[in-house]
Amino acid sequence: MSAIDVGRERANRAARRSVWSDALEAAMWLAAITGIAFMIASGGFTVATAANWWNTLGRAIGIVAAVMMMTQVLLASRAPWIEKVIGHDRAIAKHTRLGKVAILLMFVHLILMTATTAAFDDRSFVEQTIRWQDYGWFMLFAQIASVSFLVVLVTSLTAVRLRWRYERWHAVHLLVYVGVAFAVPHQFLEGTTFVGGGVAWWFWAALWTVSIGSFVVYRLIRPLLLTGRHHLTVESVDTLGDGSTSVTIAGRDVARLRAQAGQFFLWRFLSPGLRWQSHPYSLSAAPGDRLRITVKASGDGSGRVAEVPVGTRVMIEGPLGIFTHSRRAKSALLLVSAGIGITPVRSMLEAVEPGDDCTVVVRVRSRAEAPLLDEVEELANARGATLHVLEGQRGATWGTAELPASIGQFVADPAATDVYVCGPPGWSTVVAADAAAAGVPAEAIHREEFGW
Ligand SMILES: Cc1cc2nc3c(=O)[nH]c(=O)nc-3n(C[C@H](O)[C@H](O)[C@H](O)COP(=O)(O)OP(=O)(O)OC[C@H]3O[C@@H](n4cnc5c(N)ncnc54)[C@H](O)[C@@H]3O)c2cc1C
Repeated sequence: MSAIDVGRERANRAARRSVWSDALEAAMWLAAITGIAFMIASGGFTVATAANWWNTLGRAIGIVAAVMMMTQVLLASRAPWIEKVIGHDRAIAKHTRLGKVAILLMFVHLILMTATTAAFDDRSFVEQTIRWQDYGWFMLFAQIASVSFLVVLVTSLTAVRLRWRYERWHAVHLLVYVGVAFAVPHQFLEGTTFVGGGVAWWFWAALWTVSIGSFVVYRLIRPLLLTGRHHLTVESVDTLGDGSTSVTIAGRDVARLRAQAGQFFLWRFLSPGLRWQSHPYSLSAAPGDRLRITVKASGDGSGRVAEVPVGTRVMIEGPLGIFTHSRRAKSALLLVSAGIGITPVRSMLEAVEPGDDCTVVVRVRSRAEAPLLDEVEELANARGATLHVLEGQRGATWGTAELPASIGQFVADPAATDVYVCGPPGWSTVVAADAAAAGVPAEAIHREEFGW
């Protein structure tokens, strides 16, 4: 394929991905509108009195909340097509946004339904809250769901989230799925839409099956299958000069994982102290018949990786992420990293094709503290890539005090360059903004965030 054909193919791929991402959002709104149409068709649209109006609105809001809830479950399912179309970090960001709005709408639905039903039956709000259970077990389940959602909402507030350890926050966050499981029955057994049965019933059943089914398949069953199929074990653990640790993992048919350089997995080392933790680490070498990660100690889990015994079994989820060559839309490539953000950049550099126009910029405080820099130097040499090492203390730009940096000084034609950035979140934001200001198109700026 000529360079022009490669460029055209990349541009087409980028356009297709953007269409799919928009299509998913459009599908969510279409499902919500269809759900409301079914509600109206089943006679659920009554506006005779003010209470009827509010009741109808409460039902419609419940439908929108349900569709948002199933979409956020789907986004968190790690289904490969979601990962490919949107990318893991954007899917999780959307999941977080939609999840919060969905939970808030569920509470609006709950308040409106309780207040209007209390008005119909001439009861107080509190009495109606207690009497919901008279409607059937599914309403008690719906109340349990509300409590679960409330706990998740409160613990997702930034003030709480930043104070909690990730594992504790994540364990509580899983209550959202308990909430979904407890909320669904009341929709089928109490919702007016289902009075008519038929198409509406199948419509909702299909939506929930896709959403919950994807979650069960890709979050629960697939990791177990991968563990059984690939039998991954730790082959070597090496401490590097800067104190970080490279771990090589070997197994059966590793190539069948179809991992790409720049991607990451969620790793669970089945060794004492680590078996209950799963952490995301990017591949620090292009994947072949082995996988390699490089970990910098930043807390309890990452700090223990150096102690993992050789031979330890490893469970994985992935491959995840779209910080890969297949995401490229332009002819030239600029890889920019700082700190441990060098891991996916190093593996992408290893996978650079001969003749590729590739430049690498690595910002380091000092060589002694820079993980994998020697390997990056060797690879840049071997691949014919231009390497710039910006060494020194932070300055006013994303470079160093001694070596200020701007994207324009590293690439000849920003409009024809893909820029991949991985490093501390604040720093990556500055690099990405600089790239945009230099004229790199938004779809050609790729970031991997090492945070949550
Ligand atoms: C896509 C991605 C790729 C990464 N690649 C690398 C890598 O190649 N090398 C490397 O050293 N580090 C990498 N990290 C960062 C690494 O995952 C965290 O440093 C590690 O999880 C910290 O866990 P801890 O128990 O040591 O620290 P903790 O004290 O538990 O957590 C420290 C911080 O790490 C983050 N974190 C912890 N657990 C998770 C989790 N399961 N998911 C997301 N974030 C979490 C949170 O921001 C938390 O505040 C990557 C992170 C992400 C999101």
